[in-house]
Amino acid sequence: MDHFQLRDGILHAEDVPLPAIADEVGTPVYVYSRATLARHARVFRDALSGLKDPHIAFAVKANPNLAVLRVLANEGYGADVVSGGELTRALAAGMKPEDIVFSGVGKTHAELQQGLEQEIGQFNIESEEEGYELAAIARRFGKQAACALRVNPDVDARTHEKISTGKRENKFGVPLDRATEIYTALAKEDGLDMRGIAVHIGSQLADLEPLETAFTKVGTLIGELRNVGCSVTHADLGGGLGVPYKAGEELPAPAEYGAMVARVTKGWDVRLVFEPGRVIAGNAGVLLTRVVRVKRGIERPFVVVDAAMNDLARPAMYGAWHDFEAVQPTGERTIAHIVGPICETGDTFAMDRECDALVPGDLAIFRTAGAYGATMASSYNSRGFVAEVLVDGDRHAVVADRIPADAIMDAERVPDWLEG
Ligand SMILES: *Cc1c(COP(=O)(O)O)cnc(C)c1O
Repeated sequence: MDHFQLRDGILHAEDVPLPAIADEVGTPVYVYSRATLARHARVFRDALSGLKDPHIAFAVKANPNLAVLRVLANEGYGADVVSGGELTRALAAGMKPEDIVFSGVGKTHAELQQGLEQEIGQFNIESEEEGYELAAIARRFGKQAACALRVNPDVDARTHEKISTGKRENKFGVPLDRATEIYTALAKEDGLDMRGIAVHIGSQLADLEPLETAFTKVGTLIGELRNVGCSVTHADLGGGLGVPYKAGEELPAPAEYGAMVARVTKGWDVRLVFEPGRVIAGNAGVLLTRVVRVKRGIERPFVVVDAAMNDLARPAMYGAWHDFEAVQPTGERTIAHIVGPICETGDTFAMDRECDALVPGDLAIFRTAGAYGATMASSYNSRGFVAEVLVDGDRHAVVADRIPADAIMDAERVPDWLEG
């Protein structure tokens, strides 16, 4: 459930009419609902209430906006970060260092050092090589780095290939059949406190079965590690739960996920860590856009909106579907192609979409844009970076300024030697 609903014929974010935001901030603009974020955070936490003291670390890459992170910090969430930049944000948003998990295959020396200096809660080590490098830095600092070893369980998550991370050919984690050997070796390193296993098989999972298969493999591995004398006190089960992108679409509910986790992890005797991203933020945001022009096409009209693939990359990148609705629907429906202004055919949000009829100047939204939306924005076609607004009841605030194209240009230089 979300808080983007029609009231008196006008789409609102909570109690704020979307046209008011468009008038004040301009379009395109991302609009987030605090109540929806908080609600999702609670639903997910309640779904895990059968577990002993689970730790939830929001996957910052899904929506790194500081205000969004603060809402989640207020809900008791930590953060799963995948870069030094995300670590800085999570701390700036008020997340406690000990509640932060650092994932990613390419943490640089500087990033590992930053994590140690900030005394984060856990490093998810993605390779043997990374483990040795972290150990050396930790020794130099006289610190112990709490670590989980990320394994690649070779499970097909049955999602889009670009967001599948748990197949053996994917770059993430160490192969399951080498995990015991690597864990045992790293556990001997001074500077490392090897405390558990991590797994994350992909995103937008529509089915719990691949997760269950992966978790079952982790359970077996934990048993093997203990058999050879290793200590395992934590297991990080990653994120990945999908969200409905189309009205009426059915996905596994957090409660079903929680029940499956409770069943599969029974007797593991570890502290479980979770890294949800999309399921928390996805339906808590929309991208508000204005129709620039309606262009006659051969079979269907092209509705050209002022948002583009640089603002919302998912359709161009993954062929993703986002529901598209008028902010003030007249009841008239049409079938149209919905496109942005960018000079790429890939800048197409939908083809042959049945949707509200729109005329130039009308406002519309792309739903389910709260995760992997603004965070993937670029300035392609010198369009600048899209603004973000957070709504809370009847108030709202700009939580990310629009960065205009000329501000980006200000960071560029033409060297003297090019001047004729
Ligand atoms: C992206 C990512 C997540 C979050 O995935 P969602 O599908 O958004 O829940 C969690 N953990 C890791 C390691 C990730 O890379």
